[in-house]
Amino acid sequence: MSVLDLIMRHNAYRNSVINMQASENMLSPNVKLAMSSDLGSRYSLEINGDNIYGGTRYMEEIYTETHENIKKLFKSEYAEARPLSGHIAAEISILSILNKRKIMAIPEDNGGYPGYFGGNLDRILNFKSVPVPMEGYKINYDGLENVASSEKPDAIILGQSVFIRHYDLKRIREICDKYEIKLLYDASHVLGLIAGGAFQDDAMKYSDILYGSTHKTFFGPQGGIIMTNDNKLFDKIEENSIFKTFDNFNLSRFAGLSIAVEEMLKFGQEYAGNVVKNTRNLAHSMAKNGNMIQPGTEDTETHQIILNENYLKTHGFNFITFSEEMEKSKIIIDRVGRVGTQEITRYNISCMDLISDIFYGISNKLNMSNEINNIIDKMSLKYW
Ligand SMILES: *Cc1c(COP(=O)(O)O)cnc(C)c1O
Repeated sequence: MSVLDLIMRHNAYRNSVINMQASENMLSPNVKLAMSSDLGSRYSLEINGDNIYGGTRYMEEIYTETHENIKKLFKSEYAEARPLSGHIAAEISILSILNKRKIMAIPEDNGGYPGYFGGNLDRILNFKSVPVPMEGYKINYDGLENVASSEKPDAIILGQSVFIRHYDLKRIREICDKYEIKLLYDASHVLGLIAGGAFQDDAMKYSDILYGSTHKTFFGPQGGIIMTNDNKLFDKIEENSIFKTFDNFNLSRFAGLSIAVEEMLKFGQEYAGNVVKNTRNLAHSMAKNGNMIQPGTEDTETHQIILNENYLKTHGFNFITFSEEMEKSKIIIDRVGRVGTQEITRYNISCMDLISDIFYGISNKLNMSNEINNIIDKMSLKYW
């Protein structure tokens, strides 16, 4: 089969299923239009105020307008929207604060991002990472203060890949001020919820740098944004950008992000509010439906539900085989136990009791195809 055929098949396939992966979202037709535009093979790079390329008159306007809109959306003084991914945004942010070459971050076992530990960014950027003390997915604040006061890292990086609750940022800010530590917030999973004011609405206020992916709960194509209110930090961020962590920044992707930011300015509040409401309703239904949620995560405040692996085991599944079983039934979830409501919310689905019944039915090997096909028939993309 030709690659073009495979792409067409992929499109048809992913348009005929319900996606509940916590780290993905649907692009609007306008974002897709931007991504397939002529910009996809062009350069535009301003260095000290001058563009070193020609033919860039419209791209320069898109560039300026996008950064202005991002600052408006997040109420930040400075923004850098060129990083090619959340990971690159993390890399630039860390490069901009490293001094003693030590950071604190949330361990992977407690839902933290694997990039910060175990020979990943710590190895290639040459820093030591110290775990933030946790209880499950929640921070142990007294423990955090103890470790921060003895280790005195350059920065504490908050944010999780398994992310269900906001942090007491005021308290962490006080700890950071006391020991001269920078506070970085990796909002990769929750950037769209923060933009819409439905989760951790003090993130920009208390963080020195807020950064994250543009495609999980945010409406953009895959990419990363960095924001700060500190002009010295912003200078460092800019120093670590062109020719260090990227050269071209994929202009069609950037244009897609520009449209996504406009969509967020218009619809972000309504969208993010509905995502959080849907998650809460789904969590309540699933907790009632025979304990399908990991105990202690019923109070989720984000787009994420964490499945209870013990429940699955008593029904003959693990995270991987349950995901495979769901996929056969046209619902896509990841293979580490997370379920996300952001994409179905964008598709205007709010029947969370029914979704909960479907999960319950599939875990009990019932045929739920009528219920699932009914939902798929009703899906229609909102907020664009
Ligand atoms: C997804 C994720 C990243 C990496 O983002 P990419 O855009 O895939 O590079 C970084 N940090 C956290 C917490 C994440 O969940």
